[in-house]
Amino acid sequence: MAVEMETDGEDNAVKEAPRIQRLDESVVNRIAAGEVIQRPVSAIKELVENSLDASSTSINVVVKDGGLKLIQVSDDGHGIRYEDLPILCERHTTSKLSTFEDLHSIKSMGFRGEALASMTYVSHVTVTTITPGQLHGYRASYRDGVMEHEPKACAAVKGTQIMIENLFYNMTARKKTLQNSGDDYPKIVDLLSRFAIHYINVSFSCRKHGAPRADVHSVASSSKIDAIRSVYGVSVAQNLIAIEASDDDLSSSVFEMHGLISDSNYIARKITMVLFINDRLVECGALKRAVEIVYSATLPKASKPFIYMSIVLPSEHVDVNVHPTKREVSLLNQEVIIEKIQAVVESKLRNTNEERTFQEQTVDPSLSSPVTASQASPNIPSTSSSGFKVPKLPHKIVRTNSQDPAGRLHAYMQVKSPVHVQRNNILATVRSLVRQRRNPRETADLTSVQKLLDDVNHRCHSGLLDIVKHCTYIGMADDVYALLQHNTHLYLANVVNLSKELMYQQVLRRFAHFNAIQLSEPAPLPELIMLALKEENLDADETDDFNKNIAEMNTDLLKKQSELLDEYFCIHVDAEGNLGRLPVILDQYTPEMDRVPEFLLCLANDVEWDDEKTCFQTIAAALGNFYAMHPPLLPNPTDEGLQFYKRKPSSSSGEPNATTCGDSGEMGDDIEHELLSEAENAWAQREWIIQHVLFPSMKLFFNPPTSMVTNGTFVQVASLEKLFKIFERC
Ligand code: ADP
Ligand code: MG
Repeated sequence: MAVEMETDGEDNAVKEAPRIQRLDESVVNRIAAGEVIQRPVSAIKELVENSLDASSTSINVVVKDGGLKLIQVSDDGHGIRYEDLPILCERHTTSKLSTFEDLHSIKSMGFRGEALASMTYVSHVTVTTITPGQLHGYRASYRDGVMEHEPKACAAVKGTQIMIENLFYNMTARKKTLQNSGDDYPKIVDLLSRFAIHYINVSFSCRKHGAPRADVHSVASSSKIDAIRSVYGVSVAQNLIAIEASDDDLSSSVFEMHGLISDSNYIARKITMVLFINDRLVECGALKRAVEIVYSATLPKASKPFIYMSIVLPSEHVDVNVHPTKREVSLLNQEVIIEKIQAVVESKLRNTNEERTFQEQTVDPSLSSPVTASQASPNIPSTSSSGFKVPKLPHKIVRTNSQDPAGRLHAYMQVKSPVHVQRNNILATVRSLVRQRRNPRETADLTSVQKLLDDVNHRCHSGLLDIVKHCTYIGMADDVYALLQHNTHLYLANVVNLSKELMYQQVLRRFAHFNAIQLSEPAPLPELIMLALKEENLDADETDDFNKNIAEMNTDLLKKQSELLDEYFCIHVDAEGNLGRLPVILDQYTPEMDRVPEFLLCLANDVEWDDEKTCFQTIAAALGNFYAMHPPLLPNPTDEGLQFYKRKPSSSSGEPNATTCGDSGEMGDDIEHELLSEAENAWAQREWIIQHVLFPSMKLFFNPPTSMVTNGTFVQVASLEKLFKIFERC
């Protein structure tokens, strides 16, 4: 019976086994290509490695649209023979390996003959090359592994130029994700910086297409430290310790390591580990963690180090063939090697740590220096605290609807939290800071920007500069004014005006070299501008259509100027009219997103596009106004502001969960807790930023204009000597 039942069960439809088919070759190739070339930066790594394999001494990279539109790598290497061009981009064609045994002793970086082939399956590849002794070069283009036409003779400079256009044009999903996840450009800059400090005999450059200057530019240098200085900047190079380790015991490990590691003075938010094993740029999570642990244990303050290490082992001890992109390698006796390196790092750090104990005991001079009355103080109109007039607060004018506290914008404009952004951007941030410090005048290469910066310098008031540089921040006196002490004087300083001007100046200094704040979702300009228009004329009864027209015209205008906005100010407006990126003007600071609509309207209305200098000036001013540290839009929940968060007695009956029938008086004191805590947060955060970001940055960068002496930005409130005298009389 049982047997019968089983056979009868056939019509309960056990699913038919699916047929196995051989995949079409083009599908296989495209899948494989997607593995090798995961993103623009991986294509560039392959191309640069090819150039290095070709014994180049100069490698130049140009990138458009984060590499998705165009990648161009030019070198001065040995070139490619004419007769090899037809098979150049077929899979598994290589000049570097012929037998499997060769793999054990391979010195070149490539060996699979896969990279170029892969690129032709996901982009359009054009190769221009010339070999030594030839009078002219050849150019050929490739698609899906195949050369598209006979190589054409052409003029060429020494070496090879490979151009990758429209990467992932046939992989829509990949392309979309990459477009959304932001630009690969910082990764590309990072990659080339890494190569540049190891291959010091090769000069590297990397720039965006059309940009006048390269973002990485290394020249062949005599030492690793020189190379690090030129790529990562003085502040990294001056805080490095040389380190060495080796072992030559076949029973445990055989290796040699040379490196440079940061000391206790190097403070960063993220570890930078540049690791080369047998001259290959690789990653090794285990080694990275091991080093990081040592730093945390010995130098807690400098626990995110900069590490450069070059490890050399007998090539038969390294398996390079464990990862399609050769990003990881596996080593013989990896644990032993890591332990040895860890021990050397630890002993080095302990030594410097002991020296450091004494250096650390510096005292903040602003706190302990004796009070001297003789120093010149600028002529600032003094006002008694009672006569001092607080300007009308913006939030009292703008905020109208308590039911919609955060504004509608927040629904789609959740900028990543500052801390998050900070982490993501930190490498780029450090680099831009380094670049600025390294060559402060280099930032502006357009004369109009230089002129604007000169204006800033000319306008600078030396007395105020002295106050800004040497004052002590005491606290916020009210929503807008901070209390400062400078020598024996107390001043009130308008943080809105100060931050507005500081941002303006920083925009000019960082001109064309901004890091980006990426909006988590691109925000549509027409809607934002509509919001701003509505806020502007609250009571005007213009129709929506009217506003819509204006919004559309403004959007078109900004779209037309998008190249300029993006290139010079890192304000990214895409072809659909969405805002995707904003610039980082002050590190660790993101502006209040509620102010985006007003900013866009201001860009569209107030900027003079025709005259270069005025154009830059007005955009910088608009950014300055947007990024200024305005009071948060929610009223300050102290004192009178608290009224705002008290619920009005509702006309409907009491709350359902109120057990006793509460009287309406009690209801009146009910507080909107969520709103209140949001406001408390916003205000606390602003105060923190004023103290820890605004004032420290002002000390470093700010040139206070003379106008601030008279326009109420600085107000002297008291002279301590006079106060002392008054007290003496009492
Ligand atoms: P692999 O590097 O693994 O050999 P690739 O697909 O990257 O494979 O390159 C295929 C071949 O093309 C290389 O072996 C090399 O001979 C040649 N080639 C690629 N790029 C260059 C270059 N920039 N200069 C000279 N030859 C190159
Ligand atoms: Mg290669």
